[in-house]
Amino acid sequence: GPVASWLMSLSLLSATLVSAGAEAFVAGRVRHARAWLALLGAGTAAAWWPLPQALSEVGPLAVYQGSFLLLLGLPLLWLRPPLRQEFGRYGGLPLLPFGLMALAVLAFLVHLALDPAEATRSFASRSDHGASSLIPFVISSGLFHISWLGMMLGRQVVRAHSAARIDNLTGVLRRGAFETECEALLALARRLGQPATLVFLDIDHFKRINDLGGHAAGDLVLRQLGRLLQDTLRSTDRCGRWGGEEFVILLPGLDRAHAEATLQRLTQTLARAAIPVPEGCAALTVSIGYAVWMPGSETGPQQLMAQADAAMYEAKRRGRNTLVGPGPMPPGREAVTSG
Ligand code: GH3
Ligand code: MG
Ligand code: MG
Repeated sequence: GPVASWLMSLSLLSATLVSAGAEAFVAGRVRHARAWLALLGAGTAAAWWPLPQALSEVGPLAVYQGSFLLLLGLPLLWLRPPLRQEFGRYGGLPLLPFGLMALAVLAFLVHLALDPAEATRSFASRSDHGASSLIPFVISSGLFHISWLGMMLGRQVVRAHSAARIDNLTGVLRRGAFETECEALLALARRLGQPATLVFLDIDHFKRINDLGGHAAGDLVLRQLGRLLQDTLRSTDRCGRWGGEEFVILLPGLDRAHAEATLQRLTQTLARAAIPVPEGCAALTVSIGYAVWMPGSETGPQQLMAQADAAMYEAKRRGRNTLVGPGPMPPGREAVTSG
């Protein structure tokens, strides 16, 4: 009687909450709220109305179990791709309990289709209202909770790691992360006997952008410059925000001539991009200083940084919007414009 209908409704409600909750976890919001509510409504109506027949007639039972099947099966369809994308190849594994429970419901529906009389009778005469399935249920829900808790923790770890490494305004590396990577790449360059170039880039008259357009305008410029740097540089290069409106770049494998060509192209790309600035400000330009590490040199990362920094200040002294390297270019080595 009503006890069975209550239990059936509660089962549906818990399945709805689990599926909608899983979707909220994966997608950040409940994307298919209407579908979940419709299935909950249809299944609950079948469980309650008309009461005597709900447990013993094919129609209501099929609707009830069908709603259950969809509540458990749709998450497999909708959540597996994003889970795999976020957590990798086995990211869909935590959906296993959905699949197992959906299989059990499917088995009952097949039974209902093949032998309606026997299926409805066995369902209606279950004297323990499903208590016998409590142990497998507790085990599978325990596994379910452990795996989803694991994903929650995994996501937090990844987010914390990324927040510690990436500057949230510009999207490039934070200073600490840049220094760590720079040291590792310079050690690799030393080992492989390859050159590397360290670049210091400072926006010209940035304070004026803030003064005329407010800090929001300044932030927008920083964000756009960060994206431009990331888009322009190679995946093997590293870019970081040193602080304020100062960026640092490491170009592994690039000697002086190649670095000069690359940085000239970068300046041209920046000019073409015409990052919007507040009215009254000159077009956005940068002053760039760079230092080159050559194989065999004893210069360490800090010294290299100091050289690039000094070159950047020399660029400021020469009137800004310019590129300064380490001393005059050796004769016969023109800047290479390709590669
Ligand atoms: P110069 O050409 O000599 O480099 O002049 P500048 O105005 O670019 O340099 P200055 O060092 O005088 O000013 C840098 C300004 O950058 C000062 C500071 O308020 C601003 N700034 C630092 N960090 C941020 C930030 O995250 N957002 C915004 N909007 N402004 C910032
Ligand atoms: Mg500065
Ligand atoms: Mg500046």
